[in-house]
Amino acid sequence: MEKFFNAVIVDRKEIAEDTYEIIFELNCENFYFVPGQYVWVVLPELQYPDERGNRRPFSILSRFKGKNNQISCAFRKSGSGFKQTLISMPIGSALRIDGPFGFCTLPQDEATPIVFIVGGVGITSVLTMIRYATINKSSRRIILLYVNRDSKRAVYLDELENLQQENKIFTLISYFGDLTSDLIFNNTKDIANPIWYVFGPEALVFAVGEMLIKNNIHPDKIKTEEFRLSASPFYQKNIEVIKTAKGLKMALDNAFNHIIVTDSEGKIVYANHGAEIITGYSIKEMLSSTPRLWGGLMSGDFYKSLWKIIKEDVKTFEGEFTNRKKSGDIYIARVKISPFFNPKNNNLIGFVGVEEDITKEKEIDHAKSEFVTMASHQLRSPLTAISWTAEQLLENRDISARALESVTDIMRSVSRLTVLVDSLLNLSRIESGTISITPQRLDIVVFLKNYFKEVHPFCEKKNIVFHFNILVSKLEAVIDKSAFQNIIQSIVANAIEYTFEKGSVEVSLEKKENTFLVTVRDTGIGIPPEEDKKVFGKFFRASNAMTIKAGGTGVGLYIASEATKLLGGKIWFESQLNKGTTFYIELPLIVLSKEGTRSFT
Ligand code: ADP
Repeated sequence: MEKFFNAVIVDRKEIAEDTYEIIFELNCENFYFVPGQYVWVVLPELQYPDERGNRRPFSILSRFKGKNNQISCAFRKSGSGFKQTLISMPIGSALRIDGPFGFCTLPQDEATPIVFIVGGVGITSVLTMIRYATINKSSRRIILLYVNRDSKRAVYLDELENLQQENKIFTLISYFGDLTSDLIFNNTKDIANPIWYVFGPEALVFAVGEMLIKNNIHPDKIKTEEFRLSASPFYQKNIEVIKTAKGLKMALDNAFNHIIVTDSEGKIVYANHGAEIITGYSIKEMLSSTPRLWGGLMSGDFYKSLWKIIKEDVKTFEGEFTNRKKSGDIYIARVKISPFFNPKNNNLIGFVGVEEDITKEKEIDHAKSEFVTMASHQLRSPLTAISWTAEQLLENRDISARALESVTDIMRSVSRLTVLVDSLLNLSRIESGTISITPQRLDIVVFLKNYFKEVHPFCEKKNIVFHFNILVSKLEAVIDKSAFQNIIQSIVANAIEYTFEKGSVEVSLEKKENTFLVTVRDTGIGIPPEEDKKVFGKFFRASNAMTIKAGGTGVGLYIASEATKLLGGKIWFESQLNKGTTFYIELPLIVLSKEGTRSFT
C-alpha cells in the first residue's frame, strides 16, 4: 500500500487559544486509516529553523464528511519552527503526508472497557476513537478524563458533551487543574480491568503513568501515543542507566553500523553516528522519534510479527526492511532487533536495533541473477546442437571403436553440462519469482523406483550399496512432478557423490496423515557442524566437499529447498562429520497450484 501522498492545505482555523485545526487534501481517492492512527506531516521547507527537522507526527482527528481524501489534524502552537512554518503557510500550499501509522487503536475485543486520560490537545488522538465507537453504537464502556489548565484551552468540549448525551456507554469528566491519583481512581471505580490510554503533554503522561504504576496497573495495560518521546515514563530510569554507561556508549558511538537503542515502546533513546549516515537524519531528529522516521513502509502484518518476536517471544528479530532516507531515497536494510532486560528484576528495558544498508549488495545480486539468466539461455542452444550431432555420429555404423568411445565421452559431458545449465535456469526462475506449480496425480513409489534405476549405474561404479525401504506399496500424491524430481535428484545425487567408495545410501518413504516423508541417508563425508546453517544457501559448498567433488556448483540444495517451499513442504537434515548425512523431505499429499510463467526444468 502506498504510504506517501502529495497533499495541500485546504483549510486552517484557530479553534481555541493557540490551538489550530488544519485540513489536508491528499492526492488519492480514498485515504484509509484506523481511528487512533497518525500521519507524518512533511514540509517542503522550513521558514523558521527547527532542529527537529521538517517532519512531525500528528494524530488524525477525522476524515472530512463526504471527502474521503481529506483529513484534519489539530495542534497547539509552540515555539517550534515547524509549527510556526505550518501556521504561516498559505492555504493551497503543497506538502507531503506519510502514513497512516500506529497501533495505538481500539482493542478488538468489544468487551474491554477503556479509560482515556487526556491532557489538552492530546484529545485529537482520542476524539476519532470516541466518535468511531459511539457512531458505530459499540457496547464498549468508555470513560474520558479530560484535563485542561483552564476552559479557554479546552477544545471539542461541546462535541464531547453531545456525544455523552447521546450515548450511554460514554462518560465525559472534564477537569481543570492538576490531576490526582484519587481523582483518577474515584472516577473509574465502576469499571473493571480497563485499558488505560494516556495522551497529552509529556509532563502529564509522565505523572499519570507513575500514578497508574503505583496503583498496581500493569504497564501492558497502559497505552500512549507511540511517537511521544517520553511517553513511556516507567522505563525512563532504566534507560538512564544505559546512557550513563560510558564505555558502552563510546563503543556504540564509534561503530560503523547503524545502532539505535529504544525504550520498550520503540521510542529512540540513543542513536549513533552510523545511524545518522545511513538514515540521513541527525541524532537530534532521531531522539524525538521512533524508527518510523525512516521506516514504516512494510505491511502492518510485518510489524505485528516483529513486535510479537521481540516482545512476546523475547527473541532477536532478523529481517530485511525497505526504508526511506531523509533525502527520500529508498534503501534496503538488513536489521536485527533484540530486547534487553534489567538484570535486577528481569523487566524489559528496551531494544537494540542494528541496521546495515545492503542496497548495493542487492543490486549486485540482481545483476548476477540477470547474468545467470542470460548465460544459461545462451548456453542451451549450442548444447542441444552438440548433443544432436553426437547422436548422429553414434548412429553411424562405420564409426571406429575409438571414435565411438570419444563420442560417448562427449555425450556424457554434454549431459552433465545440460544438468548444470538446467539448474542455473531453475535458479534464475526462482529468483525472478516466475515459477508455476502444476500439481498432477503421481504414484511416488513408481516414480522413485524408476529414478533409482537411473542412478544404479553410478552406485555400482562407486561400489555403493543402495537400499530402498518401501513401507508402502503405493503412495499417490497430487504434486508438481518437475519440482519433485528436482528435489529428489539433487538430494540423491549428493548422497551418492559425497559418499566414499563401498559406502551405502538408503532411501525410505513413509506416509503420514496429510504428508509423505522421503528420507535419504548416506554414510558419506558429512557436513561440518559450523557450516550447517548455510547448507540451503545459494552457492554454498562445504569446506570438505571440494576434495571429493571438485566441480560442484552449490545450487542443487538451494533449488531443492526453494522447490520444497513452493510445494508447501519442509526439508531438513542431520549430519555427523565423516560418518554420514540424512536429508528429510516432507511434502503435502495434495500440493496447491501456483500461477507463474515458467515451470521447473
Ligand atoms: P554441489 O553438490 O553442486 O556442490 P549442492 O547445492 O547440491 O551443490 O550442495 C551444497 C553443498 O552441501 C555441497 O557442496 C556439500 O558441501 C554439501 N552437501 C550436500 N549434500 C551432502 C551430503 N549428502 N553429504 C555431505 N555434504 C553434502
